[in-house]
Amino acid sequence: MVTEMTSKERVIAMLNRKPVDRIPIITGSTMVVENINKSGAIWPDLHKNAEMMIDVSSKMYTDIGVDSIIFPFSACVEAASLGLEVSMGRIDIHPSVKSFFKSPDDVDYSKFLESDFVKTTIEAAGIAKDKYPDAAKSILIVGPVTLAGYLAGANNLSKLSIRCLQKEKYMDTITEWLEVALDVNKIYAKACINAGADYIQCGDPSASTNLVMPEFYNKVAVPFEKELGDFIKSKGLPWVLHICGNMALCIEGMAKTGANCLSIEQTVDMKDAVRLAGDTPVAGNIAPLLVVDGTYEDIIKSTRYALDSGAKASMLGCGTPPLSTSDRLKTWVKAVHDWSSENM
Ligand SMILES: [Zn+2]
Repeated sequence: MVTEMTSKERVIAMLNRKPVDRIPIITGSTMVVENINKSGAIWPDLHKNAEMMIDVSSKMYTDIGVDSIIFPFSACVEAASLGLEVSMGRIDIHPSVKSFFKSPDDVDYSKFLESDFVKTTIEAAGIAKDKYPDAAKSILIVGPVTLAGYLAGANNLSKLSIRCLQKEKYMDTITEWLEVALDVNKIYAKACINAGADYIQCGDPSASTNLVMPEFYNKVAVPFEKELGDFIKSKGLPWVLHICGNMALCIEGMAKTGANCLSIEQTVDMKDAVRLAGDTPVAGNIAPLLVVDGTYEDIIKSTRYALDSGAKASMLGCGTPPLSTSDRLKTWVKAVHDWSSENM
């Protein structure tokens, strides 16, 4: 029996494959409308106001009982900070990238760290560190394939990802885009680590086999994700790799990146994922829509299924949906506590 841990100790222990007092509960992005309204934050200011960002994201820790506080809300910080056009969405819709560059040479990242979006993340990390020392503070960054997709345009990247498996010249082109993306990833990750994050959550949704071939993921994407992950680890922090979509054919590849935890969605069976991931902890698998309008029974069933199947942390299959309800989120959290007290 492990003595009671703080949320931060629990999450970090899980990421380092050490014993925990109960299953840690972690999340992806948490731009939850109920929490925005409760905290008095204003949309879209909360994307560029560090106080509001932490007021909203910390509600998952203080009110819902999740172990992590994750920020920023948007997966467009890197793209916006490089000068790409970003639509801010709505209070219940995440921002999205609207433009792209013609050539990797057009990407100027000399002033990346001076962008308002990056500065907000860094300032938010400082606030969270002071206010919530016992929570596991996590900074959300995008992975190299997703960032390369923003830079080159998602359609162009998708075409290149098929052609590069057939012709060397396309491999050279996609590699150029990925190298620029990786440079930016490292600059941002280093700033996040220095700002006081406890772990990095790297989401690389464009590396999903819903968008690229499994062969592309395993052969081209994995080395870039691994290089980013190794860089994060070299600075002393663990990292979680999240890729949604059906990654069943790529779980071993995901584990090869050296990520401390793999976060997967509900289309991949948790039993298969745990088997294929080997020693690497796996989390996820609970359909996010369940916390929007699912029944309490289904939330409990899905939470318990993932844990019975060997998940080492409880997590929704993607970010926390903006229209999640606090009663359903609390049902999920309670289901994890109940499972833990019965099984640990
Ligand atoms: Zn996702």
